[in-house]
Amino acid sequence: MTTPPTVTLPEGMRLLSHEQMRAVHDAVREAARRVGVPGHKADEISYSALAAAGQFVQPPDPEPDTCTALYLPHQAAAVTADILGVWQQCGDDPGHGGDDHDSGDFGWSDSDTGALPAHTADEEKA
Ligand SMILES: [Zn+2]
Repeated sequence: MTTPPTVTLPEGMRLLSHEQMRAVHDAVREAARRVGVPGHKADEISYSALAAAGQFVQPPDPEPDTCTALYLPHQAAAVTADILGVWQQCGDDPGHGGDDHDSGDFGWSDSDTGALPAHTADEEKA
């Protein structure tokens, strides 16, 4: 098992643990069943609500075909609502030069709050 990468976020914001996300997911699915809302729609609504409160999901395992740098859009005033709290992966070539990354929807630098730098093949899960 790999140690999850850590991301720096402003005070008061945090990543929920996998256990907390499972609890949220279960509660949302149960509530969705009660009120008759499709579960995937309820998930989307709950993740948006959590992100608005500064509570975010853990980063995904990056796709290996592009640069593995990730960024968490965390400031509601700086990003559009549809990507708030949705992890972005750089779409440039793996191992590209420089500290700047771009997902196509969003550009960032490794030094930005909310950024996770690209990792090398050595660090991939063993
Ligand atoms: Zn990149």
